[in-house]
Amino acid sequence: MSLATETPSTVPDSDVRTYEVRTFGCQMNVHDSERLSGLLEDAGLARVEPGLPEGAADVVVFNTCAVRENADNKLYGNLGRLAPIKERRPGMQIAVGGCLAQKDRDTILKKAPWVDVVFGTHNVGSLPALLERARHNQEAQLEILEALEVFPSTLPTRRDSVHSGWVSISVGCNNTCTFCIVPSLRGKERDRRPGEILAEVEALVADGAIEVTLLGQNVNSYGVEFGDRFAFGKLLRACGSIEGLERVRFTSPHPAAFTDDVIDAMAETPNVMPVLHMPLQSGSDRVLKDMRRSYRSKKFLGILDKVRERIPHAAITTDIIVGFPGETEEDFQATLDVVEQARFSSAFTFQYSKRPGTPAAELPDQLPKAVVQERYERLTALQDRISAEENARQLGREVEVLVTAQSGRKADETHRLSGRSADQRLVHFSVPEGAEQPRPGDLVTVTVTAAAPFHLIADPADASAYRLRRSRAGDAWDRAQAESCAVPAPGGGKGVSLGMPALPPRD
Ligand code: SF4
Repeated sequence: MSLATETPSTVPDSDVRTYEVRTFGCQMNVHDSERLSGLLEDAGLARVEPGLPEGAADVVVFNTCAVRENADNKLYGNLGRLAPIKERRPGMQIAVGGCLAQKDRDTILKKAPWVDVVFGTHNVGSLPALLERARHNQEAQLEILEALEVFPSTLPTRRDSVHSGWVSISVGCNNTCTFCIVPSLRGKERDRRPGEILAEVEALVADGAIEVTLLGQNVNSYGVEFGDRFAFGKLLRACGSIEGLERVRFTSPHPAAFTDDVIDAMAETPNVMPVLHMPLQSGSDRVLKDMRRSYRSKKFLGILDKVRERIPHAAITTDIIVGFPGETEEDFQATLDVVEQARFSSAFTFQYSKRPGTPAAELPDQLPKAVVQERYERLTALQDRISAEENARQLGREVEVLVTAQSGRKADETHRLSGRSADQRLVHFSVPEGAEQPRPGDLVTVTVTAAAPFHLIADPADASAYRLRRSRAGDAWDRAQAESCAVPAPGGGKGVSLGMPALPPRD
């Protein structure tokens, strides 16, 4: 999913304190950062202008991750660079939140005593009050809660994208995968009521969004808290009847809890996109058992067959961990076999590394780094080949692309714009001479003319091979641009071209 910053930044006047939020980790964190930004803007701060030197913001917030390798080194490196800057600017404040803060707590203040606020995953909403208290008392504030007080989605949010929004349906996880720190940091699963979720989706759509992604650590167990095990499929169907909502996505499901009613809901709800992110983690049943993942490879592949039977063009992506403690060459071969059979369109592949506080960190038979690296390279080579083959199968296919608004050096060279197809593939396309330029949030229909492992290219021969559908999201982009530039809003009318940067191709 694109994490582009697409809303034009607020230009602060010199009396307004500015902030910057730096995000590490998963989509949950990206969405939490939108909330942190919303809270700070509600408190009267303005986002710092992009491109200014490090430390230009009055408040720097780190939203940290404890899942990825070296998360703590990365954080302390960043904090170390800010220490001398803060010394020169005493009014500056630094806050650290997210999973690593929840885990490390007062260690952060011991290692980096120039930090002003440490807050956890359960009290995101306290950030403005903690910053104010730290400023007033001239003393660092540490506040970590053990359980959620307010469901985070009720907090103000500053969304990063006009056309797409994240909506949390649950937080926390009731599973106990042995490599994962999430259950101990995010707590037990808490489900939001369907009515609240749908009201948020409707509000987003009214604001101009045409795409939403429903977020949860394990979306298939949604409803467990209020006793409806079919709640997730029903939620997808309910999203299908929201007028103006064109694309519904979700992440992440869990193979153990993935039921046929969800496949039916996906197949029968036209705005639920033909894409599924289904974490495999390992193709070896023995390793899955050690990971405490309760499905087995046969069941996993069976789910993919069912999905493809009902949704033939579904693009299926996955997560895989290489080198889990005790993984033998035979176990690894089982993973390669499943990958070969599963034909994922792409995969997030990770080298296992110990996470203190997780059961797997205590397991014997931790593998030498060189073994893990060598297996990882074999796995990525295989998946890259499959991704290239699967993308090559898209040649000649007509795709509708939701245009995004990122820019890059390569895009400047190629003059291509970029976006995502319905099945979430990254598409770089050119606008034929004389044809109307799309705005971010508009939809263009083009035919795929070239393919690489990580993206598709569509270069229409002429204007007849290019169709533009101007959308409400494009109109909302125009309005947001106009507000930020203080020029009259075009009201979504045609003929106002604000120019558009594009995504750099990944290759
Ligand atoms: S399902 Fe497993 S990997 Fe996913 S959040 Fe829960 S414990 Fe972690």
